[in-house]
Amino acid sequence: MTSTQVPVMRPVLGEEEATAAAEVVRSGWVAQGPKVAEFERAFAARIGAAHGVAVSSCTTALHLALHLAGVGPGDEVVVPSFSFIATANAVRYAGATPVFADVEPVTGNLTVETVEAARGPSTRAVLLVHQAGVPADVDALRSQLEPLGIAVLEDAACAAGSTYRGRPVGAGATLAAWSFHPRKLLTTGEGGMLTTDREEWAGRLRRLREHGMNVSAAERHLASRPVVESYLELGFNYRMTDIQAAVGLVQLGRLDEIVAGRRLLAARYHELLKDVPDVRAVRDPAYGETNYQSFWVELLPGFPASRDDVMTAMNAEGISPRRGIMAAHLEPVYAGNPHRPLPVTERLTRQSLILPLHHEDAAN
Ligand SMILES: *Cc1c(COP(=O)(O)O)cnc(C)c1O
Repeated sequence: MTSTQVPVMRPVLGEEEATAAAEVVRSGWVAQGPKVAEFERAFAARIGAAHGVAVSSCTTALHLALHLAGVGPGDEVVVPSFSFIATANAVRYAGATPVFADVEPVTGNLTVETVEAARGPSTRAVLLVHQAGVPADVDALRSQLEPLGIAVLEDAACAAGSTYRGRPVGAGATLAAWSFHPRKLLTTGEGGMLTTDREEWAGRLRRLREHGMNVSAAERHLASRPVVESYLELGFNYRMTDIQAAVGLVQLGRLDEIVAGRRLLAARYHELLKDVPDVRAVRDPAYGETNYQSFWVELLPGFPASRDDVMTAMNAEGISPRRGIMAAHLEPVYAGNPHRPLPVTERLTRQSLILPLHHEDAAN
């Protein structure tokens, strides 16, 4: 990409983020500490969860979510193949087997029907994705699966600021995992979060992200007398730093504006594309609103050019679209993982592309 190319997305990072990071550096406490705690409270409040537990990425958040749900060797977890590869990989970190389910074409998400076709007696959990910010129909999946003892976990990496039945995506979730990678709406460089309403789960997640310790290093440091920690279980180092959290707090303050800007520009795309034959653009499902983390379009069978030719032509005009959302089952790393036919996934991944959307330009 040359500097004149229009990228698919640009994170908005201003002086406020720079100042917030600099203040943490000057404070001398740069690892996980008070800023992480503040960011957790603010993020959880914004999406309507009782607790937030910040971690190093959404990938590590997904690993901890599966671990907490008791997923392990011998278990199967139903996941969409139509997702960034981290969704399926997290299942393997937990020692379990990902079972790929197909998605519906309109949302790109799992449905009751596609999960029904994929689950079996060893299914321990379903890891649904709110793909590209489009909310999945969580209530339908939970009322189908929870009576069977199957946990429904949410990969909400892209979905900060999306809504489901009038509430933020993530409100009421058993466990939802979030990403703050720059390709998402809010960024801390790298970073992630878990949200839940269950206090005992939040406590255990805090322990798991910090080596299984019963007191955090920050608490130990602040205590007025020596505290000797103990290690209650096998944990991980999945912590976020206070530098990242300080940036995240500023970013969170921009979320409403970012979502409004993206939705405004998406409406313009819809208007411009409405008379273009054989192109179908992602839009809101009946039960919620997407944050348009990615504005993807599918080229339908009558479209006169191939997806790759369209991408090449756009590149020549200085515009950098991206291929559509990937399909994990087509990657070499999943070559040995058996799966049933996934026709919608294969069609969408082959025929779709993501158009640039720069929320910072919405006011212009
Ligand atoms: C980006 C993404 C992830 C991984 O997030 P990281 O914070 O980069 O680990 C996981 N799942 C989905 C659906 C994503 O889009």
